[in-house]
Amino acid sequence: MKALAGAILVSMTCLAQGGTADLRGQTMVRDQIAARGIRDRRVLEAMASVPRHEFVLAPFRDSAYEDRPLPIGRGQTISQPYIVARMAEALELKGKERLLEVGSGSGYAAAVFGRLAAEVYGIELEPELNDRAVKVLASLGVRNVHLRAGDGFQGWPAQAPFDAIVLSCAAPELPAPLWEQLRMGGVAVMPEGEAGRVQRLVRIRKTIQGPRKEVLELVAFVPLRRP
Ligand code: SAH
Repeated sequence: MKALAGAILVSMTCLAQGGTADLRGQTMVRDQIAARGIRDRRVLEAMASVPRHEFVLAPFRDSAYEDRPLPIGRGQTISQPYIVARMAEALELKGKERLLEVGSGSGYAAAVFGRLAAEVYGIELEPELNDRAVKVLASLGVRNVHLRAGDGFQGWPAQAPFDAIVLSCAAPELPAPLWEQLRMGGVAVMPEGEAGRVQRLVRIRKTIQGPRKEVLELVAFVPLRRP
């Protein structure tokens, strides 16, 4: 375990672009993510390289790399780093995919997914959060993450089909429009359940026999809301 963490740390140091890699990101990956069993090297590198402090509200910048969710405004939260990594790993991204995120909020998870897939499309219900996310991603030079404000329940038909879909807000089941917009063989990862209760993080694979579901983890997400 120690050797693995060391190897990851070295590869992340190599990843530093112009010396910008944040030591706090590397420590976060080692202590919170690799230590909890996330093995996908691309996920670990993505988590170490996205500057999480850029996505949180100013008063929380010093806490950005802590092992917990943080407020991003409008009563919403940026997920705990480990959960973002767990979802990223569950999406099985290899680099060529078109991914849809429902509930892109601060844009943090979308930026992580953007390092793992070809194109990321994010929908956020709160225009204020979306505006801020668009600005942060532009300031970081991220070009393959496309965000818009709107109701993610409806998906993004103009950009469908998607190889993978991720919900960053909880719903009792995968909304029908999202199932329609998922390509055959693709996967959806979502917190399934009611608001205010323990939810199950599930991976749903679209097969010709219908949905194949696996339960991955117990989680607590804000609910998917309808406008
Ligand atoms: N992935 C985000 C997490 C944001 S929390 C991040 O990294 O910051 C989940 C988000 O889902 C909230 O911002 C909330 O406003 C949004 N949301 C809730 N219902 C939604 C809907 N119907 N469509 C789009 N976004 C929704």
